[in-house]
Amino acid sequence: MAKAKKTLTTAFGIPVADDQNSMTAGARGPVLMQDVHLLEKLGHFDRERIPERVVHAKGAGAGGYFEITADVTKYTKAKFLSEVGKKTEVFARFSTVGGEKGSADAARDPRGFAVKFYTEEGNYDFVGNNTPVFFIRDPLKFSDFIHTQKRHPATNCKDPDMFWDFLSLTPESVHQVTVLFSDRGTPATYRHMNGYSSHTFKWYNEKGESFWVQYHFKTDQGIKNLAREEASRISGENPDHATEDLYEAIAGGDFPSWTLEMQIMPEEEGFNYHWDIFDITKVWPHAEVPPIKVGKLVLNRNPINYFSEVEQAAFCPGNLVPGIATSPDKMLQARLFSYHDTHIHRLGPNYHLLPVNAPKNAPETSYQRDGFMRLDENGGGGPNYWPNSFGGPEPDPTAGEPPFEVKDLAARTPYPHPNDDFQQAGVLYRKVMTDEDRDHLIGNIVDHLGGAQKRIQLRQTAIFYKVDPEYGTRVAEGLGLDVKEIERLAEMSQDDRANATGEGV
Ligand code: NDP
Repeated sequence: MAKAKKTLTTAFGIPVADDQNSMTAGARGPVLMQDVHLLEKLGHFDRERIPERVVHAKGAGAGGYFEITADVTKYTKAKFLSEVGKKTEVFARFSTVGGEKGSADAARDPRGFAVKFYTEEGNYDFVGNNTPVFFIRDPLKFSDFIHTQKRHPATNCKDPDMFWDFLSLTPESVHQVTVLFSDRGTPATYRHMNGYSSHTFKWYNEKGESFWVQYHFKTDQGIKNLAREEASRISGENPDHATEDLYEAIAGGDFPSWTLEMQIMPEEEGFNYHWDIFDITKVWPHAEVPPIKVGKLVLNRNPINYFSEVEQAAFCPGNLVPGIATSPDKMLQARLFSYHDTHIHRLGPNYHLLPVNAPKNAPETSYQRDGFMRLDENGGGGPNYWPNSFGGPEPDPTAGEPPFEVKDLAARTPYPHPNDDFQQAGVLYRKVMTDEDRDHLIGNIVDHLGGAQKRIQLRQTAIFYKVDPEYGTRVAEGLGLDVKEIERLAEMSQDDRANATGEGV
């Protein structure tokens, strides 16, 4: 039986008589202002694009669920983690970081790994990356860093001088640079990579006991990466290959999954640990803090509409439910502000009402009102202030984080790090990587750093030398640099090295 035809309407539901011919004054005459259907169509089209994300603009997403598989109630009172077998609906988004919305999925870049959990205590957002560390550890450097990964102000092209100038003047970046220039910087697809919190977070239990935690979502598909030549080819042939891969896998019933493993450390031990656990350029060695398996993330639903779900999805590291809290990681502290702020800019003050962002299992009962695009009942006739004596929603003191001590002087203090910026990158290079990993790492660096000015090459290669003399020597040889000069630069302080490698134009 033929389907009953639906009538085309304007945005306001008025039937449209003709959608092929604009209304003109005579067959050859000008178009009439009274063709309000045309005006409405063009007006809406002119406003179809919203500001793209300043970072993580290109992404793909899917829905699914998270299931808790181990008893973690001694660490956290979060209700969605309270019972083995309990499932929570999620929406996940994966992305590259530096490129624009149309850029290639195979670019060398960290990958965003964000998951929104629609819990019964409100939305919990996990907003991580596929790398366990980051380039910088102070948010004052963030906008500068991102500028160097984007386009040159004059040429509007990606610029190896900007890229490596900043990194070579920011030695704490070398751990992440080593991960990024390994083949993990070009994961084969979004399904074949891990997701890490990178930051330390806090979990606390019903008794008010606190623990520091790191999240590791380990891919059940296995890690699979692209070699440089393969990534370049795919970027040209199909810039959307990872977006397509995720969609097609789910459409074909091959649902990707990740096992959540947690590293957990009692609160006091964290303050005295020999690595600074609030420094995002460091990991917690597995041998010292073994990860424990606690859950499974499964993606089994493609978005019905890309714009409504993936483009409008808005994740905030500050969306934490009772039982989960922040840590003093300075990068995390700044992200608590920045994500919400950027979503207000991108989507408007009522972005939390969009279906993908709305807390679907714990209805919002705040006193926030009005603003652009308030698309619900806006609190109806109920009170819009607190305290009130008209039966409005009340704060629940049991929802709060246990009090924690803050001490010391307020100041612009660097992280206390006894020259440890090179050690973990050295372990990665020497002990974790295979011969093939090291060959690819050196080739990938030489290929990219080779485009920068020689003085910048010298400065950056000296940093690789500090991580491991063999690492620095191989990069120097690949770039045709004098290894003795690299050795001399590596022995200098960072300031002396910067002075010795001069200024460019
Ligand atoms: P381990 O040997 O216990 O762990 C090394 C981990 O490195 C692996 O478990 C794997 O993590 C990851 N890895 C494996 N191959 C590569 C690669 N080619 N490139 C990047 N990462 C890789 O040692 P430690 O825990 O002491 O860590 C040693 C170094 O490994 C760290 O300095 C860090 O650079 C890196 N690393 C450590 C992680 C941690 O949380 N401890 C996590 C990831 C990397 P995974 O199973 O998560 O893929």
